[in-house]
Amino acid sequence: MSEVQYNFFEAVEKSFHKAAKFTKWDKGLLEQISACNSVYRMRFPIKRENGSIEVIEAYRVQHSHHKTPCKGGIRFSMQVTQDEVMALAALMTYKCAIVNVPFGGGKGGIKIDPKNYTPYELEKITRRYTSELIKKNFIGPATDVPAPDYGTGEREMAWIVDTYSAMNPQEIDAAGCVTGKPVSQGGVRGRREATGLGVFFGIREVCNMPEEMAKLGLETGVTGKKVIVQGLGNVGYHTAKFFQEAGALIVGIAEYEGGISNADGLDVEEVFQHRRRTGSILNFNGATNHKSSLETLELECDILIPAALENVIDKNNAPRIKAKIIGEAANGPLTPEADEIFLQKGVLVVPDMYLNAGGVTVSYFEWLKNLSHVRYGRLEKRFTENVNTTILEELEHLSGKKVAEKNRKMIMHGADEVDLVYSGLEETMIGATREIMEEWRNNPEIPDMRTAAYVVAINKVATTYAELGIFP
Ligand code: GLU
Repeated sequence: MSEVQYNFFEAVEKSFHKAAKFTKWDKGLLEQISACNSVYRMRFPIKRENGSIEVIEAYRVQHSHHKTPCKGGIRFSMQVTQDEVMALAALMTYKCAIVNVPFGGGKGGIKIDPKNYTPYELEKITRRYTSELIKKNFIGPATDVPAPDYGTGEREMAWIVDTYSAMNPQEIDAAGCVTGKPVSQGGVRGRREATGLGVFFGIREVCNMPEEMAKLGLETGVTGKKVIVQGLGNVGYHTAKFFQEAGALIVGIAEYEGGISNADGLDVEEVFQHRRRTGSILNFNGATNHKSSLETLELECDILIPAALENVIDKNNAPRIKAKIIGEAANGPLTPEADEIFLQKGVLVVPDMYLNAGGVTVSYFEWLKNLSHVRYGRLEKRFTENVNTTILEELEHLSGKKVAEKNRKMIMHGADEVDLVYSGLEETMIGATREIMEEWRNNPEIPDMRTAAYVVAINKVATTYAELGIFP
């Protein structure tokens, strides 16, 4: 963390207004877009296992209702404040707009360190929080749909859907009240790794743009690129794994206990297992230890991926960062001052609000699956094999080319749920990257990719508001 606690919502508003100048929308409409519509701040008691009573502070914010339901994760962290949840909810609005996911932005937070509570206590906190949301109509498949975020995962989402279903027994679409659920509880395959995979697809697309790479003095493509990842949680772990699988070298990994590096590359899975066994990433075989987590971010690399919390790179450490590309897998990891420094240094910052949209994109697939009460994916192979063999032959005959191996599998056997999710996500992230880059190239006055992303988002949200009119 930086020494100065930056006002996060203010930072988001600053970026918003910087971009709004490049749009044609009325001042009042822009104000309506950037404001947070509803903030629910709550306090509730829980009884701990030792019999003591503790008062918990929690929030749910609905930033925008230009599309409903509102959508966004719930985090468990001691850093949760109203300002933080508001900023994150705003980012969700813009994120959803960029990837064409038809939701308004929302976010929730409970101010606890989950490590200090037993699973039984965490279940009580999660269920009580859910019941508070139900009472105030801040959750439901048509109103507001939470998801995992920092410090939460499938387990908490299962408690939420169970509480919601128990309290709304007539609701046929109850499963759609939350996403990121276990697959057995209406979740979708591929959701767990979706944010990391989306980060990978987004950066890969940028790396595949020869002009952008030439500007940075880098070779086109991901293979051989040196990558440092901060955070080995759900997002960082999967991002690092997808980069490694694509032939990049993970030269550094940072966690809160410190960092490790190896110029020849670290095996992400082995580091993950080592941390699980020993409780720390330090002392990994063949790697150099770095006592300070932040110091690890300053090592030599091509791509730096902060995948933990906000404000980790500020005006103090930004000048020392050597990466040419920064991929914001976390929400708000750079302060506006750090952004400015990277702009001066010619570093390409790939912004959070679109780069980490993989999670919510796949959440959308999950929500659709729940509302339509269907199962995604292939029929039994024996029903599809013959007919698809014919289709495959016909395709190859017509095109005069052999169908690529990964598509061959889909055509032959029908696509698995995870194939469908991955390909939908790939298309979404490639499309969003190109749309933002095009906006940036078409308007040379737009200074950076973040501003271009905001312009794309503002135009989409504003169009919806303009078409809706104002009630009453
Ligand atoms: N918490 C994730 C995010 O910040 C996912 C949100 C969702 O799936 O609704 O984007």
